[in-house]
Amino acid sequence: MGVIKDILRTMDYGPSPESSEHVGVWLDEHKAGFGHFINGAFTKPGALFDVFNPANGERIARVSQGSAKDIDAAIAAALKAQAKWAALSGFERSKHIYALARHVQKRERFLSVLETIDNGKPIRESRDIDIPLVARHFYHHAGWASLIDSEFPDTKPVGVCGQIIPWNFPLLMLAWKIAPALAAGNTVVLKPAEFTPLTALAFAAICVETGIPPGVVNIVTGDGATGAALVAHAGVDKIAFTGSTEVGRAIRKATAGTGKKLSLELGGKSPFIVFEDADLDSAVEGVVDAIWFNQGQVCCAGSRLLVAEGAADALYAKLRARMANLRLGDPLDKSTDVGAIVAPVQLERIRRLMRQGEEEGLEFFRANDSLPDRGCFYPPTLVTGVDPASVLAREEIFGPVLVATTFRTPDEAVALANNTRYGLAASVWTENVNRAFEVAARIKAGVVWINSTNMFDAAAGFGGYRESGFGREGGREGMSEYRIADEPKPKPSASRSQRLNASPGVAPARNMDDAPDRTAKLYIGGKQARPDSGYSYAVLDSSGREVGLAGLGNRKDIRNAVEAAAKASSWGAATAHNRAQVLYYVAENLAAREDEFSRRLRAMTGMSARAAKSEVDASIRRAFVYAGYADKFDGAVHATRARFVTLAMNEPWGVMGIVCPNEAPLIAFVSLVMPAIAMGNCVVAVPSANHPLIATDFYSVLDTSDVPAGVVNIVTGEANALARTLAEHDGVDALWYVGDMDGAAQVEALSAGNLKATWTSPATIDWAKTQGRAFLRRATQVKNIWTPYGE
Ligand code: ADP
Repeated sequence: MGVIKDILRTMDYGPSPESSEHVGVWLDEHKAGFGHFINGAFTKPGALFDVFNPANGERIARVSQGSAKDIDAAIAAALKAQAKWAALSGFERSKHIYALARHVQKRERFLSVLETIDNGKPIRESRDIDIPLVARHFYHHAGWASLIDSEFPDTKPVGVCGQIIPWNFPLLMLAWKIAPALAAGNTVVLKPAEFTPLTALAFAAICVETGIPPGVVNIVTGDGATGAALVAHAGVDKIAFTGSTEVGRAIRKATAGTGKKLSLELGGKSPFIVFEDADLDSAVEGVVDAIWFNQGQVCCAGSRLLVAEGAADALYAKLRARMANLRLGDPLDKSTDVGAIVAPVQLERIRRLMRQGEEEGLEFFRANDSLPDRGCFYPPTLVTGVDPASVLAREEIFGPVLVATTFRTPDEAVALANNTRYGLAASVWTENVNRAFEVAARIKAGVVWINSTNMFDAAAGFGGYRESGFGREGGREGMSEYRIADEPKPKPSASRSQRLNASPGVAPARNMDDAPDRTAKLYIGGKQARPDSGYSYAVLDSSGREVGLAGLGNRKDIRNAVEAAAKASSWGAATAHNRAQVLYYVAENLAAREDEFSRRLRAMTGMSARAAKSEVDASIRRAFVYAGYADKFDGAVHATRARFVTLAMNEPWGVMGIVCPNEAPLIAFVSLVMPAIAMGNCVVAVPSANHPLIATDFYSVLDTSDVPAGVVNIVTGEANALARTLAEHDGVDALWYVGDMDGAAQVEALSAGNLKATWTSPATIDWAKTQGRAFLRRATQVKNIWTPYGE
């Protein structure tokens, strides 16, 4: 008889399949095909498409392809249900959501098996991660429902929400979308991904069981065309989308100018950074969770391994050994680590990218090439020596492929980490807490996990920087996406082009040399600058008399201003106290010149002395308010997982474009620029086109207040033309536009390039009443930093 250690050496896993009997029965009951879930009931199946089990290629169901008519019906149901749902007390809504959580929990086994059959993910993951998080999400948001009035005062639900989700975490993404929407008093039409619609349909059945009022939750299945019809529907007030950056961009364009609220959670190419002093064994387990969890089909997968040169060989050796122990195969087997890729087309995409990598001569390691003879499988793969310019380092592979690059210094690690158009997540491994936080602060990503990876919780926000999208899901951050200010709909303001054509407006440009002394120049990088065009335009008063000349800024001036703003980025790293001091100084210097500013306002606009004084007074007060706020818009520590601290940090966007309205030229300028710089952004501001001289007078206030060069840049000229350049510019991280409908639509459509965050208001704003946290929130994005503690 062998000794125990011999037995342990030879011992292998036996088969340990999870039973799929109940799911089989349910699928059999729906053999004729599934309809949509509209107005509390399933529709008769329409045109059907097949749904396959990717682990064996077998058809498991037939599901209806949602048409524009189906979308119409679902929106009509959601619209009809919304007022009543919103009118329920928070407590009543809370009970409904709580019931969903309970019922999901009761059916955990069924839902896990169904998810695994539909998606191909290992049962261990659907059972231990996906479905428990689904229940957690509904519980968490049941709480928000009952707290909504006290926690979100002066807001109301957005209305009807169109929600489109991907196939990698089908039920979890549904929970991330539906739970906050319902808690906030909205109704929803959700479209699951075409590869994985089944758990959403099972969830619909749960809605029937728990008695969610008809029309509150509607589920329409179908492909991208169904999604596009949902996005385009006039009855939708908000679109929440998770999926590829490419489709996110199309949705940004499709919703431009419609007034629909939008949140996008898109792709990623997240760095996984291992420093020399990291605990390498833990880091190896981290890599397994980062890139082989769900076969790497995770938007925040740690797909780029950046490892310190000195630790690389040791880490690679440990990784290769660990890869040999990963069990790939039947996802329903409880001892499977790596399941199936969701569909043949995805498998082919991975293979294509690998062929490109092979053509580049990259080094591949696969522990086990023997794959099941049917189904969509791809082995865990490590690619080393990858140049940052390689296609594998840049493109999101969405498969179990880790690409590794080495670095020498922490600065280089940060530079490599940020060398991507995405910014969803990052993972940092080091035993040095100072280094960990420094790197976490410098990485441009919405989530940073220190000595951990792929941690999620309903109480923490999740979402990206840059081309990974905007908006957050989870916690208070996510809830605020589903509420809007409770105020009457403001009147759209007159079109700028009409204004400019009419007298008074922007008069024909003239060569600056005609009247050099009277021309207010642009203000770029802390200096007055002649506009690139060499032209100026006459600024007229209310009776059409010329009161001065302003520089006619163009694309080149905007580009220079953006460059100057980017160079001033150390403003964002200054202490909040320092920023507050500078802002107080601005406010004081404005106060010292109150009379002069009042006179200028009167001369330009023809307003009464009283009105001018009141606008200047309000502007001074506002400047003081944001100076006060500079060190008070704190982040939060979220209550997430045991033995984790989750810090939600409010970070500046970076470079912000700000396009001011024609009206209220001083108070609008101050109300927009001051919160932006208080939070550490550097700004390119386009002041009122018709009354720009008040902003050019502001230069000297900035100069005398120690505002560092480049923090505020001012380009005068035709506002919508300059807004266009700002919207197209990839160096602009966020753009605020207050103006007319056409300008707002243009800004939103053109922002799709780098998916910059936009806030547009095509309406007349009562500036006297508008200030505070809402502006600070829009001037920042939240980074959640997760840190474990304890040994
Ligand atoms: P993935 O790469 O994860 O498949 P997609 O962005 O293609 O991501 O798909 C995510 C979701 O978006 C799916 O539900 C899909 O049907 C939907 N979708 C695809 N194209 C469009 C579109 N043009 N408009 C709206 N939704 C779309």
